[in-house]
Amino acid sequence: MFITFEGGDGSGKTTQMQLLAEWLRGRGFDVVTTRDPGGTELGRHIRKLLLHGGDVSPRAEALLYAADRAHNVATVVRPALDRGAIVLADRYIDSSAAYQGAGRTLGEDEVRGLSLWGTEGLMPDLTVFLDLPAEALASRLGGSFDRIEAAGARFHEDVRRAYLRFAAAEPERWFTVDATEPRERIAETVRARVAEALEA
Ligand code: C5P
Ligand code: MG
Repeated sequence: MFITFEGGDGSGKTTQMQLLAEWLRGRGFDVVTTRDPGGTELGRHIRKLLLHGGDVSPRAEALLYAADRAHNVATVVRPALDRGAIVLADRYIDSSAAYQGAGRTLGEDEVRGLSLWGTEGLMPDLTVFLDLPAEALASRLGGSFDRIEAAGARFHEDVRRAYLRFAAAEPERWFTVDATEPRERIAETVRARVAEALEA
């Protein structure tokens, strides 16, 4: 089973993914966690280029995210899924559709198409969306921004609206959580949804 965590910056994806991983491991599951971008050695180079490497034009940005994801799926995600592990990913294809597709206005379907080509069509079984109003971003990140986090309120509002649209369009795959709730409460809600998915 492949579960992805999506949402704006500072919404708690990494924390919630780790909490879920611990819970699943405690129940005896083989769990692999990964991040996008940066889940592989190549990906860590790409991540540095994307976030701290100076100017990156929008189409180059979209291709770099897709390249990172292609390599991560080929070398980490698919091998783990093939041996029956549960894979948890901190961001995946929907981040590209939201950030590059909507935020950078490259077109959600085109950007999705790039990643689908790169991953040979691998889609998540379940996507946990930690929904956070864009105003909350600045306070949560505490003033330390990477190139994209610094993109401005309008960009982050577009990203959030895109996520809300994706979640509404595919309610079976998307599980939306209010990211302003206490983290233990969010973790419980997520566990309940994942338990349901595991039984299905
Ligand atoms: O969530 P994480 O900190 O790993 O994301 C790194 C940065 O890359 C963040 O600024 C995030 O907004 C950005 N990002 C992006 N497009 C993606 C994935 C992440 O702009 N497809
Ligand atoms: Mg971040």
